[in-house]
Amino acid sequence: MSEQLKDTESTTGASDESSVDVAIIGAGPVGMALALALAAGPQRVLLLDSRARAAWSGDPRALALAHGSRQLLEHLGAWNTAAATAIESIHVSQRGGFGRTLIDAREYGIAALGYVMRYRDLAATLDASIDAHSTATQRLYSRTVLGITTDSEAAEITLAEPAAAAGNTAAPRRIRARLVVHAEGTPASDPAVRVYDYRQHAIVAEVRPVPGHQHRAWERFTPNGPLALLPLAEDYSLVFTVAPEEAARLLDLDEEAFLAALRAQFGSRLDFVASSPRASFPLALRVREQLVDPRQVWIGNAAQSLHPVSGQGFNLGLRDAWALAAALLANASGDAGDAATLDSYARARRLDRKGSIAFTDGIVRVFGNDLAPLRIARGLGLLALDVLPPLRHFVARRMIWGARAWP
Ligand SMILES: Cc1cc2nc3c(=O)[nH]c(=O)nc-3n(C[C@H](O)[C@H](O)[C@H](O)COP(=O)(O)OP(=O)(O)OC[C@H]3O[C@@H](n4cnc5c(N)ncnc54)[C@H](O)[C@@H]3O)c2cc1C
Repeated sequence: MSEQLKDTESTTGASDESSVDVAIIGAGPVGMALALALAAGPQRVLLLDSRARAAWSGDPRALALAHGSRQLLEHLGAWNTAAATAIESIHVSQRGGFGRTLIDAREYGIAALGYVMRYRDLAATLDASIDAHSTATQRLYSRTVLGITTDSEAAEITLAEPAAAAGNTAAPRRIRARLVVHAEGTPASDPAVRVYDYRQHAIVAEVRPVPGHQHRAWERFTPNGPLALLPLAEDYSLVFTVAPEEAARLLDLDEEAFLAALRAQFGSRLDFVASSPRASFPLALRVREQLVDPRQVWIGNAAQSLHPVSGQGFNLGLRDAWALAAALLANASGDAGDAATLDSYARARRLDRKGSIAFTDGIVRVFGNDLAPLRIARGLGLLALDVLPPLRHFVARRMIWGARAWP
């Protein structure tokens, strides 16, 4: 097909048609991981994003990365030791009820159950690794997808080009791709996506604990929703789940009043002496039932967006990217959009995806109800986790390995 793509950030006024094997829409962590994983193969890859390059530099989130995700990122040459804080143990409890459990990495013969890293540090490392290891990857930023059509040979993406100068309208650009990978994150309303609104918001911040965290994470279930503290450098990354009205109130509090609200959740176990500015995210479960269409496939949050409890979202998305790259690299047909390859990818992801969705959604629903019988059942469950090693190991393996934890 016709000419090569040339620019990354610059604008062009000319209508332009080009072709690639794989066009990845969304240069977030999952899209970038896929681009890196495909660097070993012959496919010509285009990574494109609607935002500017490094727009993630202001993202306030931190992500818990499973031990298994570290291994995948190491394979991709995108593990940043300096930006990672080890989680050596996790304390799980419920507010206003009995029962607690402690999961410790030493029981599993590993140094850490997982790691915590800021989203922006993860994205920056992946971005730099593409520059270092995947120099053939083409990149386009600040481009809006106007539409995608497919025929038997390829998908055609129409992109709005930024105007060369104020007042000028640039002609759209068309790109033909044998396969379009949707990695554009949480989908807006789309009839193909099932949505369950948790009617919860996650407040995120970095808070300074006293005494220090000693690499212990805390997961505390409250009637409003789960509250997680993840060790991050000297601080804790906080994910405080509350009803939308309560989120608005907490965002408005001054630092001291916010810390007091946080202390109220933890009693005398932990104290907090400082907080970064706070941000909030609305929480819903969004599941695309069908992962593939002719010449298109959905991965990462574009395929499933989960509640952040138990930190599964990116870990699952990374496994999507890894599995898709493996399928594409093993495909001998020379056609990246080969239907049989896409179908076998979708089949291979079924168990991990369903299991992770059910695990996460189940925790939110079981622990999000304040009825007394359920509170007692939860306490018994936590107690059982504590005294029954096989049950605790099941939960621990999910945290450490993700997909490989399923029987
Ligand atoms: C508060 C919170 C805490 C979390 N904690 C954890 C955790 O501890 N562990 C964990 O594993 N996961 C966690 N997650 C989930 C995790 O953030 C996501 O699963 C992960 O970011 C998904 O990566 P992604 O690349 O699929 O999507 P995103 O990170 O959303 O990236 C999507 C990219 O696509 C681009 N884009 C969007 N629309 C378009 C478009 N139309 N065209 C082109 N480009 C587009 C965006 O600019 C962005 O660069 C958390 C989420 C939240 C909200």
